[in-house]
Amino acid sequence: MSDQTTFDAIIVGSGITGGWAAKELTEKGLKTLVLEAGRNIIPEEDYVEHVPEWEMKFRGMGDRRKLVAEQPIQSTCYACDEWSSKFFIKDKELPYTTDPGKPFSWIRGRQVGGRSITWGRQSYRWSDLDFEANLRDGIAIDWPLRYADLAPWYDYVEEFAGISGEALGLTQLPDSKFLPPMALNCAERFVRSELTKHFGGERVLTIGRAAILTQDHRDRAACHYCGPCERGCITRSYFSSLNATLPAAEKTGRMTLRPYSVVHSVMFDPNTRRAAGVRIIDAQTKAALEFRARVVFLCASALESSRILLNSSNPEFLNGLANSSGQLGRNLMDHISSAGASAVIPGNEDRFEIGRRPNGTYMPRFRNVKAKHKDFLRGYGFQGGAHRVGWERGVKQAGFGPSFKKTLSQPGPWAFVFYGFGECLPNPSNYIELDKEKVDAWGIPTLKIHCAWRENELALRKDMAVSAAEMLEAVGGKDIRPIQLDDPPGLTIHEMGTARMGRDPKTSVLNAFNQAHDVKNLFVTDGAAMASSSCVNPSLTYMALTARACDYAVSQMKKGEL
Ligand SMILES: Cc1cc2nc3c(=O)[nH]c(=O)nc-3n(C[C@H](O)[C@H](O)[C@H](O)COP(=O)(O)OP(=O)(O)OC[C@H]3O[C@@H](n4cnc5c(N)ncnc54)[C@H](O)[C@@H]3O)c2cc1C
Ligand code: SF4
Repeated sequence: MSDQTTFDAIIVGSGITGGWAAKELTEKGLKTLVLEAGRNIIPEEDYVEHVPEWEMKFRGMGDRRKLVAEQPIQSTCYACDEWSSKFFIKDKELPYTTDPGKPFSWIRGRQVGGRSITWGRQSYRWSDLDFEANLRDGIAIDWPLRYADLAPWYDYVEEFAGISGEALGLTQLPDSKFLPPMALNCAERFVRSELTKHFGGERVLTIGRAAILTQDHRDRAACHYCGPCERGCITRSYFSSLNATLPAAEKTGRMTLRPYSVVHSVMFDPNTRRAAGVRIIDAQTKAALEFRARVVFLCASALESSRILLNSSNPEFLNGLANSSGQLGRNLMDHISSAGASAVIPGNEDRFEIGRRPNGTYMPRFRNVKAKHKDFLRGYGFQGGAHRVGWERGVKQAGFGPSFKKTLSQPGPWAFVFYGFGECLPNPSNYIELDKEKVDAWGIPTLKIHCAWRENELALRKDMAVSAAEMLEAVGGKDIRPIQLDDPPGLTIHEMGTARMGRDPKTSVLNAFNQAHDVKNLFVTDGAAMASSSCVNPSLTYMALTARACDYAVSQMKKGEL
């Protein structure tokens, strides 16, 4: 009988990064165990993107009392609605604490596929403007790699995942290997050409770069514009680990996927100075079990991977495994958003949106690209787009009778919104630590999260509203409304840092290949590894880093170094 507890590789988590690690390691010949804390997902039963409002018990409004009781934090995320709340955790089962007056919204998915089911699919490459930023500004530590190191791996993951978008040739936002772009609508085309007139090539409006297929690709069908992707996608048209990487790993016959396996800690062997394997709690039976492997990949999402390491203390590493630098848990980041502006764009009233395009517009960063801004470092990009006001016809459109029917056939004017996503500086005072007094539903110590926006992020947020309103005015927008909300860190759902990469083991947890300096057969390839945050969505970079780390780990194993 084969040994069911010993593998070549163990991967913790099956979301965006765990899925990539599973595909890469199994395809390279490793017998791989994927340990996933949550339940299994069966697309044919769990995906609900085609279920209309009238078939939902609460007509799409959700069981608000239940949401507030069970998911008070998760339900602050736009995607956690009556359909998709099942893809988000129950907050009571996985508590954490924050400092008074300093909330942090930790949005999580615990199931096979992780948050790759609900993510917004916006996919952008980072550039050397990002990888050189810390060095240039004298902040935190320099990244141990540059764009040229990652570019082939961006090519590699994009070719598999399928990223649609438009090539622009900008240095601050390198082009991907694109599938054809989705089309801009008439109001977006108008805004784009007016912006070019007023700002030259400095502020460019383009269609969002999205991990959504615009043509059939690798056995997956092109998107049919049904709209609510966060509910799943039975045609596998957007990239998720369930739709793409896990099936590829499964196909090799070398993957064992074990749902309901909550990893408690990594076991360390002091004689070999290697990770021996992991301890888990079976989420259904609560039994404690152990699994062993030659390499361990932590892909549980930034804060969960660091939490596992903090909980893996031993006599040699008293403050968390692989933490001789003391940097584990430090420099937590998220993107600052919730600011921009909206306006009515007159004209084109005889034209309509076609289908439910699951994508918006993007404007790449223009601050601190050529000229230095006096008020802040780094910059922001704008997501957004144009739509006809009141054309959604969702349940939230109130009314009844003939006048209501009439409004349904008469959409309002075109409106455009710019919504900023700004870079967050690494700051050691934004950190996590283990709360040994408070455990989760599986008896594992929880986190205390200490995090707040600092001066630079708040200055970015202020400028987002000003520059967005300025652009809408320049293009002839009416009823211009600046947006500046006070959303806490975490809510942009791009949490990063806490086990940063770097060249020096004294100041970083991981090396340039996401390998722990202190424990050579331990890799962390999710957002925990990031040494700075850029202003663009991070998941494509996590994918490229993961594929690169897998390639490195297997080549080291072949050389007998691991
Ligand atoms: C609504 C929404 C919109 C988003 N939009 C975008 C976007 O447009 N672009 C972008 O780049 N990013 C976006 N993100 C963020 C993106 O989803 C994450 O960056 C990405 O999923 C991170 O990948 P990951 O593998 O690190 O974590 P996840 O995908 O979260 O997967 C982690 C997995 O690990 C499992 N796990 C956790 N702890 C343990 C444990 N102890 N033992 C075993 N398993 C464990 C979890 O159950 C989960 O399945 C969005 C997220 C959300 C929720
Ligand atoms: S809009 Fe496209 S990608 Fe999204 S769920 Fe529908 S078919 Fe899939």
